[in-house]
Amino acid sequence: MTIVRPAERPANEPARRAVPLSDILIDEEIEQAAAEAVRSGWWSMGPRVKEFEEAFAAACEAKTAFAVSSGTSALHLALLAVGCGPGDEVILPSLNFVAAANTIVHVGARPVFCDIRGTHDLNLDIHDVEAAITPATSAIVVLHYGGHACDIEAILELADRHGLAVIEDAAHALGARWKGKTCGTFGDVGCFSFFANKNLPTGEGGMLVTNDDALAERIRLLRSHGMTTLTWDRDRGHAHSYDVVEHGFNYRLDEVRAAIGLVQLRRLPEHNAARGRLVEQYRTALDGAAGIEMPFSSNGASESAHHLAVIVLPEGCSRRAFQEALADSGIQTSVHYPPIHSFSAYRASNGAQRPLPVTDLVAPRIVSLPLYPHMTPADVSAVVGAALLAAS
Ligand SMILES: *Cc1c(COP(=O)(O)O)cnc(C)c1O
Repeated sequence: MTIVRPAERPANEPARRAVPLSDILIDEEIEQAAAEAVRSGWWSMGPRVKEFEEAFAAACEAKTAFAVSSGTSALHLALLAVGCGPGDEVILPSLNFVAAANTIVHVGARPVFCDIRGTHDLNLDIHDVEAAITPATSAIVVLHYGGHACDIEAILELADRHGLAVIEDAAHALGARWKGKTCGTFGDVGCFSFFANKNLPTGEGGMLVTNDDALAERIRLLRSHGMTTLTWDRDRGHAHSYDVVEHGFNYRLDEVRAAIGLVQLRRLPEHNAARGRLVEQYRTALDGAAGIEMPFSSNGASESAHHLAVIVLPEGCSRRAFQEALADSGIQTSVHYPPIHSFSAYRASNGAQRPLPVTDLVAPRIVSLPLYPHMTPADVSAVVGAALLAAS
């Protein structure tokens, strides 16, 4: 992703407003936290990672949290922890980032894609999840699209009835809630991402949360080669040797990113609230105007993390022309996401694909507009003006 910063605009370019899709706020507190971690001389997983995990678990009201190297490694460990493996089918929405599907393939299981609800709600359709269940199904990986909670209670009830594990891909949903309870803490394991464009950016990084002690122990082992003690513990004199009891990975997070994460975690509520105000401004100006629809107008029981500002273009409006028109005005847009079942690797490997009529109808019409906490109302107005012009 290229981020066009206003400062990088050549001086002779017209004074149009360059609005990136996403942007990171860098200030002294972030720089200092990173510098302190660097100067500490302990760069791998250590006390800052532990502090970050404890603060994250407390913020989510989860029993245990494990920091990892990415959201993708979090999903991989979650699937292994709940026991997904060869011969299993795992259900997930196709309108999703590819990470969950890739990790399902990596554990030897088969991703089975389900449909979404419609232009008003881009989350999974519980009835289609139920229709996708077979005797081979072992788990459901749910997504809280754009930070809007999916119907997680109905999913838990369905999973319970069929004896399935539930993993929450909560990469969009940092700080989101459903009936007051934090997204990521409903299922067996919740997975978060700290990628540069997420609500809590550290560059790369991720977190797993769980309330289940047995799953926690498996995640702890698998994160670090299946070794029974950590370098940090041995350095502190807490342990002298170790055993290897599982075939694990190195999915650890480092101290510099944990230090940045601690600062970002403190800012998360304020940043999510700022995102919410900007989305409201988009919604007031765009929902129902020039045939544009903005999904998730009714939040119901969900308190969104407002990760994305997604619109659905009117039928027949060329998305390509729309995005090009905005790019010509200096406004960066994106698509979250091309459906996974449309990618070559999945068309070939997935065998007989279930029909996904709603995804096929809605996905070609979605566009993500710029959204980041320090975006200004004037930035939103500039995007709205360009969007209305391009859609009509
Ligand atoms: C970003 C993202 C991931 C992957 O996270 P990484 O930290 O980039 O590995 C997984 N799922 C969704 C929905 C995401 O948006």
